[in-house]
Amino acid sequence: MNPHPPVIELKGVTIRYGNHDVITQADLTIRHGETKVILGPSGVGKSTILKAILGLLRPAEGEIYVHGEEITRLKESQMSRIRTKMAMVFQNGALFDSMSVGQNVSYRLRELRLLPASQVDTRVDEVLRFVGLQGAVKLRPAQLSGGMRKRVAIARALASNPDIFLFDEPTVGLDPINHYNVEQLMLQLKNRPNTSNIIVTHDIGSASRLAHSIVMLHGGKFIFEGSPEELAQSKDRRIQAFLDPSRIAEIKI
Ligand code: ADP
Repeated sequence: MNPHPPVIELKGVTIRYGNHDVITQADLTIRHGETKVILGPSGVGKSTILKAILGLLRPAEGEIYVHGEEITRLKESQMSRIRTKMAMVFQNGALFDSMSVGQNVSYRLRELRLLPASQVDTRVDEVLRFVGLQGAVKLRPAQLSGGMRKRVAIARALASNPDIFLFDEPTVGLDPINHYNVEQLMLQLKNRPNTSNIIVTHDIGSASRLAHSIVMLHGGKFIFEGSPEELAQSKDRRIQAFLDPSRIAEIKI
């Protein structure tokens, strides 16, 4: 039994763009220390869920709790306070090209005054060391490979010492070595007892290695929740089609 309250809960959440419901009456719980993977095909609403958890968009219905606090009606200033406990690693890294790696990593610390100025350089050094890029502090993002940019994005997320990490397609487009390196970093985060992670991906291999628990989003709802082993054994044809399209697809020549 996990004695801690859930870090994130979605209850009956409906999210609408215009008059199109992308998420309908969805429930989701992320427990303390848990790494939860959200699987699902493109366009099903995975990034939308992350944006709603970050308070970047408001559900039409339902509630979202972060550390027990309902966030859907908070003012932006109150939401900023909640966001200091969360860090998002965007798909493309979302680094500022005009800033050095060190400036990118320290930006949020300085802007939000999350650390005394005298401690910022030490913190930047510490997190760049963690991702194996201690020598890159003065480089510009344009001088880095895709995998290095992703590692800088992870260092930047780590810098503010959040206890919730949100990853949007963390390994997409990486070559096998960088894919492995980024996954190893995420495994270290998975193994931190006080860190909770939500990872959006459609990489089933990564999902199985990283997840304590997997949820599958389909038709606006979570149609599955369970371990990677339970997912692999699912008899649900929608899940089987996602895991192995060749079992379901009709071959048309
Ligand atoms: P996923 O992350 O699973 O690929 P998204 O959450 O990005 O899916 O998008 C879900 C659906 O919502 C898609 O059909 C997408 O076109 C639509 N959508 C996403 N963002 C917007 C937006 N800002 N305005 C209108 N429709 C959007």
